[in-house]
Amino acid sequence: MYRSDEGLAIIDPGYTGSVRAVLRFVNEHVRGRLDWVILTHHHIDHAGAAFALCQATGARLAVHRDDAPYLQAGRPRNRMTLWGIAERLPARLASYVVSTAAAESRLLDDGDIIAGLTVVHGPGHTPGSICLHSASESALFLGDVLNNERGIRTPPWTVNHSHRRARLAPQRLEALRFERAYFGHGPSILAGADRYVHDFLTRRRLVPAPAIAQR
Ligand SMILES: [Zn+2]
Ligand SMILES: [Zn+2]
Repeated sequence: MYRSDEGLAIIDPGYTGSVRAVLRFVNEHVRGRLDWVILTHHHIDHAGAAFALCQATGARLAVHRDDAPYLQAGRPRNRMTLWGIAERLPARLASYVVSTAAAESRLLDDGDIIAGLTVVHGPGHTPGSICLHSASESALFLGDVLNNERGIRTPPWTVNHSHRRARLAPQRLEALRFERAYFGHGPSILAGADRYVHDFLTRRRLVPAPAIAQR
């Protein structure tokens, strides 16, 4: 959850089954209106609960325009196997998802500001993967551009739309300052987070990975 003068946002509410837990959290902690449900990308472990949460709270959905097509029926096929679960959505449910999304969503572009957060487009994991940066709070929400499951790293090639681009995406983060980092997977870093991310990027440059060398 992210609160700013420009509104209150939930980022990546999680799997479909987490709706009730997220709603409970919202009811306990949100005084006033939930304005936005922002998705760092379309994968179901981040986006599954988004539509139900928007319906229940009246919040609007926001997603990068390059990932928006994946939230609609007839979406492009995705190479990530996990998403295959949702590819088998019953047709009626799929049409419900589309009508909800079409009416409500805001399409994000690189550099946009939403609820006080700046959109940093980092395509690769999915075409519309983004990070969300707050300069005033010195915080970065990384989605799946980097994870922190066994140290900081890019997601494995098996889950990336374009592994080559996914390896390049975090390079942009070098220009950002952020004390705290929140990952889609793995523990948050609550102090000196940008140092850890910059160290990772520097180390990787010293030992170029074959995936980048081959192109
Ligand atoms: Zn993902
Ligand atoms: Zn994920």
